[in-house]
Amino acid sequence: MSTTICESCGSEEPRLYRVHRRYITTAAWDTPGVDRTLDEVESWCFACCTSYPNVFADEIAEP
Ligand SMILES: [Zn+2]
Repeated sequence: MSTTICESCGSEEPRLYRVHRRYITTAAWDTPGVDRTLDEVESWCFACCTSYPNVFADEIAEP
């Protein structure tokens, strides 16, 4: 059996999800907001998927 370790928190999990990490920064008076999704796919546990901004890899349409 292969070990599954979450790339976000490092915890060993029975099930990981393939996601694209997403950076979201709320705009402030002196800085524009940022909403950026990374191209690379990471393996995250369920807790990280619900705690941090991300886009499920499978939802990205292949060209
Ligand atoms: Zn995690």
